[in-house]
Amino acid sequence: MKGLTRTHSCGELTSSSVGTTAILNGWVNSSRDHGGLVFVDLRDRYGMTQVVLGGDLVEVAQALRSEDVVAIVGTVQSRPKDMVNDKMVTGSIEVMATSLHVLNRSKVLPFTLDEAEKANDELKLRYRYLHLRAPRMQNNLRVRHQAVQSVRTYLSGNDFLEVETPLLIKTTPEGARDYVVPSRVHPGQFYALPQSPQLYKQTLMISGVDRYFQLARCLRDEDLRADRQPEHTQIDLEMSFVEEEQVFALIEGLMATTFSQTLGIDLEAPFVRIRYEDAMDAYGSDKPDLRFGLQLQDVSDLASQGDFGIFNGAVEHGGVVKAVVAPGLAGFSRREIGELEDVAKLGGARGLAWMKVGDEENTGSFTKFFTPEKLGEIVQRCEARAGDLVLLVADGRHVANVSLGGVRLELARRLGYNEGGGYQFCWVHRFPLFEANGEGGWTAMHHMFTMPLAEHLDALTSDPGSVHAQLYDLVCNGVELGSGSIRIHRRDLQEQVFDTCGFSREEADAKFGWFLRALEYGAPPHGGIAIGLDRLVTLMVGGTSIRDVIAFPKTQKATNPLDESPSPVSPAQLDELGLLLDQKRQ
Ligand code: ASP
Repeated sequence: MKGLTRTHSCGELTSSSVGTTAILNGWVNSSRDHGGLVFVDLRDRYGMTQVVLGGDLVEVAQALRSEDVVAIVGTVQSRPKDMVNDKMVTGSIEVMATSLHVLNRSKVLPFTLDEAEKANDELKLRYRYLHLRAPRMQNNLRVRHQAVQSVRTYLSGNDFLEVETPLLIKTTPEGARDYVVPSRVHPGQFYALPQSPQLYKQTLMISGVDRYFQLARCLRDEDLRADRQPEHTQIDLEMSFVEEEQVFALIEGLMATTFSQTLGIDLEAPFVRIRYEDAMDAYGSDKPDLRFGLQLQDVSDLASQGDFGIFNGAVEHGGVVKAVVAPGLAGFSRREIGELEDVAKLGGARGLAWMKVGDEENTGSFTKFFTPEKLGEIVQRCEARAGDLVLLVADGRHVANVSLGGVRLELARRLGYNEGGGYQFCWVHRFPLFEANGEGGWTAMHHMFTMPLAEHLDALTSDPGSVHAQLYDLVCNGVELGSGSIRIHRRDLQEQVFDTCGFSREEADAKFGWFLRALEYGAPPHGGIAIGLDRLVTLMVGGTSIRDVIAFPKTQKATNPLDESPSPVSPAQLDELGLLLDQKRQ
């Protein structure tokens, strides 16, 4: 590289540099051989510059291949008028090369950078360094970086201290399986990798830190459902002496600052607040996409006034009949309605009733069981118009909501409502603290360190299902961006919640004794939240998968084709750790 260090990046030279000598370093993005002249587009992270090679340099230039790394020395000149490209910063100039130096050759690529998106996932991950060179991926990394800088500056400016918590820990339950790490020094004992820094950030509040944040790596050994990764990053934070509203205000400021500094977009704050039950009732989801309406309507009272056994039965058994209107879709075929029914069934519904709203009459799967007047009342309740399709589910409230919630999203997809629409943030709050575990017991809906609403404390032992918590989710465009809560800061209350979740005192002590003890030494009231950084950035870049904003993600099977992990360890390593492998499992 001696004497070849770049004077400019490939995205820098403009007409104001015409006449100067420049040295550029970069990758051959493409080259065009015009006989006596070779045109090379030279690329680096900052952009692309057209280089022209003639005379003695033609022969070497003709041998260049895509992704060869070169240094060129040359003179900046204006492009002929008809060759000017207004879309590029460097589009009005080119560099007439006086020398060309090949710094390294590239093999033929397994996929071209232009076509990288079409390559299969395994291949793209194996050659991640090539995929990352594509402009879209470079942009994703840049947006992530900018977002992180904004987060750090904003939180630091609001008195937060960035504190690192350990990676080798006892175990923090977040509802997933732990990754475990054997201890060599203590044979037979294991550390866990943190599913989140939950207990440590709470302990930092007990330590008087007052305001903590960390860009925390969280590791969860889950079967990878769509768009999950074994490791993800959270903007993790905790605050002392706060109530829900203060956490909301802080995060609204954080989002507004980050969006404005990263994307130049002004968000409207405060964000809408919706209680969990209201979100379920209106949108059939605890992460409602508010870019469009399509709200669910309760028509139980009207729907049970006909002779339709399914509607009547549902209402008699304490269930509901709910409806969603598909605007202008009365022309849907049986097949298309069948597809919507399949979506409803994924939510547990047994079927999907439907009615096409007409100018004169309403027809559908159940209309013969009703008088035209009653049908008219249902249409009115739903605010449906001629040409609309009304879709209904009769079932228990939860199943009806979730099923129609799925239909609502599918309709939005078909109607294109889920494209554009900006960033519609909301808070969903007052979640139930517990959910039935299917075995007659209870588990925490989020985690066990969540403070119940003060007015529900009495029901903790008598009626756990009715207890709601100071528990909130940050949602944007139907994506759950983060979860948090005001925490329990008293040992007795914490023990009561462990009891409800079926932990014996011994078990609770073995797992969380250290933390329960800390609560006894003047733990302040506190609360916090963790925002999924990967999801946030995915939303910002308009991506579809968090994999696109993580530099080195893993496959659906938790492997990394790039470094070929996981991989076996040597017998000597196993021996040192005192581990024997079960041969049958391999
Ligand atoms: N630790 C929680 C989680 O990872 C977030 C929180 O409650 O702050 O979901």
